[in-house]
Parts: sequence; C-alpha cells; structure tokens
Amino acid sequence: MGNNKYKVLIVEDDRSISRFVQAILESNGYQVLSAERCGQGLLVYASHMPDLVVLDLGLPDMDGEEFIRQVRRESTVPIIVLSARTEEQDKVSALDLGANDYITKPFGTAELLARVRAALRFSRLNMQAAPTGSTFTVDDLVIDYDRRQVSVGGNLIHLTQTEYNILSFLSQHTGKVMTYAAIIRSIWGTMDDGSVKKLQVNMANIRKKLGCRPGDNRYVTNELGVGYRMLDE
Ligand code: CA
Repeated sequence: MGNNKYKVLIVEDDRSISRFVQAILESNGYQVLSAERCGQGLLVYASHMPDLVVLDLGLPDMDGEEFIRQVRRESTVPIIVLSARTEEQDKVSALDLGANDYITKPFGTAELLARVRAALRFSRLNMQAAPTGSTFTVDDLVIDYDRRQVSVGGNLIHLTQTEYNILSFLSQHTGKVMTYAAIIRSIWGTMDDGSVKKLQVNMANIRKKLGCRPGDNRYVTNELGVGYRMLDE
C-alpha cells in the first residue's frame, strides 16, 4: 500500500483498548494516530486529517459527543463510536449527532476490521455523489430513484409510498446505522409516542415484500433498540 495507507485516528483514554485497536489496525495496513483526550483528539484531527476516527465516548476532559459536534461542522469523515453496553442512550445520541457506526465493548478483531472497512467504503461512496437518474443496487435489489421503483431479482416489488420512502432514505445512507429518530424525522417530519412502532411495522412489511424471512438480514440489518442499516454489499 506504500504511502496510500488509510490514516485512522483513535481517541480513547483506556490504554489497553487503544493499544489493542492500534495493533489490529497496524497489522492490517492502516496508519494509526492516537489521542487520549477529546481536546488532543481535535488537534490531531485538524493537523492530520485522518480518513477515519474511532472514538470513545467517555473521555476525561470532554464527552466524545463534543468531538462529533465539532468535527461534523466541517467534515463528513467517518466516525465509529466505541461504547460500553451501559451507554445505550449515548450510542443513539452519538449516531444522531452524525457518527456513522458503533462498536460495543468488548469487541473482537474481526468485528473491528469489518466496521472499519464498511465505514471507509461509505465515505468513498459518498464522495462519488450519485447523479440524478441513478439507481441503487445491493445484491439482487435495485432501487430506481427516477421511477421510484424497487425490484428484486428483476421482479417489481409493490411498496406503499411510505415504504418506498423509508427504503430510499436508508439506501442514501448505505452502510451507516440510521437511528429510529433520524428515519422518523425524515419520513414523517415529527416524532410521537407511536412513531417507532409505526416505523417497525413498515419495516416488517418492507422485509416481507422483499422476500426476507424473520431474522433474515439481507439488504437491511436491524440494529436492535437503535435503528436500521442498509447494507452496501
Ligand atoms: Ca473512556
């Protein structure tokens, strides 16, 4: 890979986790920068412009959310949040602030590498902004944005307007976990007590129409208690 290595910034105050992440990434051809505090992370970010950030939320000087807020003002760099199982709500709010994905501690090598590859793919896809008149394809599913039509294996799928809007929205953020709140705001504008249930019912119908059995995560994965993610391969 020579000088074309992807640069990854890790912001994490727990040294054992930081070293673990660094070792895995370096042995897989990534260049790694690290910071133990949020403020230091922002400085390293600004001076090195990494291709990806792996971010702990519980940092000693500032909340990791502050990092996301500041970086998102000017950059779409993919951010993967590291969260403890007890930080469920933090995870959701980090995603709503613009984090791309999350990994729950403790995590393994394969999971980390898969999330990193997916996040980098997301940013490459985003840079080649889709022209109008385009289609989205994953596996045998095709979305034709001009005709507002969806097909699987060449067969047209009959979706309601709402179902189409949900699927289309997820496909425009492919690879990224979209929280219930983000999807609901985009589809219905506002959120109320019944919104999540309404979204889940629509998603169940979409999956059925796409030919997915319960538990079958082709095309769209269900991020339990968080949201949905359209797969990108
Ligand atoms: Ca921490």
